[in-house]
Amino acid sequence: MQVILFVGPPGSGKGTQAQRLARELGYRHLVMGDLLRHEIQNETPLGRQIKPLLEAGLLVPDELVIDLIAQHLQEGANYILDGFPRTVPQAQALSHLLAQKGASLCAVIALEVPEEELLTRLLKRAELEGRSDDNPQIIQRRLAEYRTKTQPLLDFYAAQGLLRRISGLGDIPDITDRIKKAVEMC
Ligand code: ADP
Repeated sequence: MQVILFVGPPGSGKGTQAQRLARELGYRHLVMGDLLRHEIQNETPLGRQIKPLLEAGLLVPDELVIDLIAQHLQEGANYILDGFPRTVPQAQALSHLLAQKGASLCAVIALEVPEEELLTRLLKRAELEGRSDDNPQIIQRRLAEYRTKTQPLLDFYAAQGLLRRISGLGDIPDITDRIKKAVEMC
């Protein structure tokens, strides 16, 4: 069981690239944001609890997302995790979970895009898709959450020799190629 992580700020193209890589490698693509939105759409108790947080652009408490990922990881399959972990405590919990399952974390892809470009992309996506957390004020909040809570993850994984920093600028297929080279050993 192999696992590859995607870390990147909102608008970095993380979802697009994770999906393309999953297809090429034949890995399952597990998207935390989608799991959470699914709970909200189905109006589950969890969904009701987290809805205001997503709408405000704030992260959901660690224990809730850790529970959710534990429910979705099946032994024996290979995974690309997209949007989990986003905090150091989540990363520590994931290490335990993978150790229990005898799985190994193969690489962590950090997609890097300058903040100015992120804002441009997110505002464009807001116009096209109308996602409720894609408005200017909420976008700023999500970027701030990324800077304060998710960016420390990069040091955590760099210290383990797992971090691969990839530029998220340029053509989509070229970015996928760069990522493929970075995960050749997986
Ligand atoms: P984006 O990367 O554009 O912010 P996502 O779909 O990945 O979009 O996430 C949407 C929202 O879901 C986040 O703003 C946050 O509220 C919540 N979320 C997603 N993943 C996590 C996580 N690992 N921990 C806490 N909250 C999360």
